[in-house]
Amino acid sequence: MNRTDPPVPARALPAPIPQHKRFSRVPSGRQGAAEIVLTGIAVSAGVAIGPVFGTTEAPTQIIHKRIHASDIAAQTARLEAAILQSRKQLGKLRARLSVLPEESQAEIAPLIDAYIQMIGPSRLIRGVRRRIGEMLVSAETAVVEETEAIACTIQAQDSADATADESAGTARRADEIREIGRRLVRNLTHAPFRSFSGLPEGAILVAEGLRPADAALLDPSRLAAVATEEGGADGHTAIMLRALGLPSVLGVEGLVAAIRPGDVAVVDGVAGTVILNPGAATLVAARRAVTAFARERQRYSRLRRLPAVTLCGEAVELQANLEIPVELPLIAQSGAVGIGLLRTEFMFMNRETVPDEVAQFDIYRGVVEAMAGDPVTIRVLDWGGEKDIEALTNAGVVPDVTNANPALSIRGIRLLLRKPELFETQLAAILRAAAFGPVRVMLPMVTTVGEVRAAREIYERVARRLRRRGERLADKLPPLGIMIETPGAALAADALALEADFFAIGTNDLTAYTLAVDRGDSHVADLYDPLHPAVLRLVQFATEAALRMRMPVSVCGEIAGNPRLTPLLIGLGLRSFSVNASAVPRVKQVIRRVDIDSCARFARRIMEQSDPTMIRALIADFKAE
Ligand code: PEP
Ligand code: MG
Repeated sequence: MNRTDPPVPARALPAPIPQHKRFSRVPSGRQGAAEIVLTGIAVSAGVAIGPVFGTTEAPTQIIHKRIHASDIAAQTARLEAAILQSRKQLGKLRARLSVLPEESQAEIAPLIDAYIQMIGPSRLIRGVRRRIGEMLVSAETAVVEETEAIACTIQAQDSADATADESAGTARRADEIREIGRRLVRNLTHAPFRSFSGLPEGAILVAEGLRPADAALLDPSRLAAVATEEGGADGHTAIMLRALGLPSVLGVEGLVAAIRPGDVAVVDGVAGTVILNPGAATLVAARRAVTAFARERQRYSRLRRLPAVTLCGEAVELQANLEIPVELPLIAQSGAVGIGLLRTEFMFMNRETVPDEVAQFDIYRGVVEAMAGDPVTIRVLDWGGEKDIEALTNAGVVPDVTNANPALSIRGIRLLLRKPELFETQLAAILRAAAFGPVRVMLPMVTTVGEVRAAREIYERVARRLRRRGERLADKLPPLGIMIETPGAALAADALALEADFFAIGTNDLTAYTLAVDRGDSHVADLYDPLHPAVLRLVQFATEAALRMRMPVSVCGEIAGNPRLTPLLIGLGLRSFSVNASAVPRVKQVIRRVDIDSCARFARRIMEQSDPTMIRALIADFKAE
């Protein structure tokens, strides 16, 4: 592996604007102005050089305004008109998406649809109407107060032990509610919306903040890059900017105050920097980075079609993890051959009721068909730990474990065996979907052979029942495998291998449980180390147990997506990885540059180490022979 590889894009992206356009027409900028380097969060890879253009949106100030009972009808009518207008605007926005690349549409359309739904017969709109009628407040006041109340309720769900991903998801949902409130208020008060149509070609858009719906209005064929003061790596705005392929840096403190009209800037969406008034040396380096990035993109898109085979000819299975179906186009684009981990928790989230067999079947079938013959490993519900799910709590399906340690209490398979109806419904939906393409079923949080046996009994019973019901099932039942994600399961891997059809090593939880470190606790984040020798030994032990039984074994925890660790994992005997779609090309690139013997020697050296610092140093130094 070449350690001087140029920085890697955070995500495989379409290239909507030719890179040369991004710096072909660089104005001279402010004469004699000093170079200013500002740093923020790199959210969308790529480097661009261009003149900066700021956009601002006048704030809409809403004061709490009471009304008389006689005004209720008029205020309600104003609200209905604003809803209608908002719906039209969003409809137009939705239609505009068709000009974007397919994968960008797939990212953005669901958000716009969610907005359209929110202004339909939703809890939000019911609440706003109630406030006007019962609390006697103006339509604007009702919108602001209702959206704020809902957003605060959503944010209150963000517990201290939530993972960073979960907290980001909670913040996003609260933002979406506030965003729809702002749109309604603008339409109620006839305040103008921001327009991006006047931005010159090749411009760098600078703003205090950019809403996801604003990002959906950007034209990636005209714009060079985006930089804002607000925003983070996991927000919808960031997701959209990545989908649009616009180099972007968000969360840049002091940005708006620092720019002057006509300034030239370099936006580096990999380093997370915005350089105002770049000097000659900076410009030369930036141009080089632009070219290197364009080449990198080309190389990755070529890689998509190449097989994941080592230099010595050994094939490695490279699949993708899927958390929400919106990721499907990215997976198709990434070059992954199948889905190695479909986390089904998403189906139970953001809804008030538990999905029935038909609702689940429709989703699984959609995924299986979208993979067009490539295998899909569906993991049954992994409730518990940090994964609390409102619909299950509301429906009284899950026990109250507030007084217990949720990570060590009822979670994953433990819940499903206690709630057979929940388990059976999900298994029935999966088994029916398996008639449409190759599927594997995976059990989370297994610690004993008894759990696997009990789960298999239920699995076979559900299949028999479906056959009696006349459902079309695959002739052979899909393999039933397990996650190896606790030290107990790893150390009992040889016994578990007699019961399970395959293993998927979940290093995220395996690291947490082995080192007694909560995955989402920032106090001990420095101790969360998948390269700790104890974790690596458990990975090795479980892998060898599976290989002895000639049983398929893969890694689907985050470490599988880190290309620096690919040689080590291959050296430990692993030939199957399931990774984030964006990591597929990078991991594939490494697979194609290594040979099995050198990986095996490397893994032996690593496994002799007792100090994670030394392990890190060896990994940083690894060079393919
Ligand atoms: C894991 O624990 O490594 C894993 C893949 O499962 P999850 O991250 O969904 O808990
Ligand atoms: Mg896990």
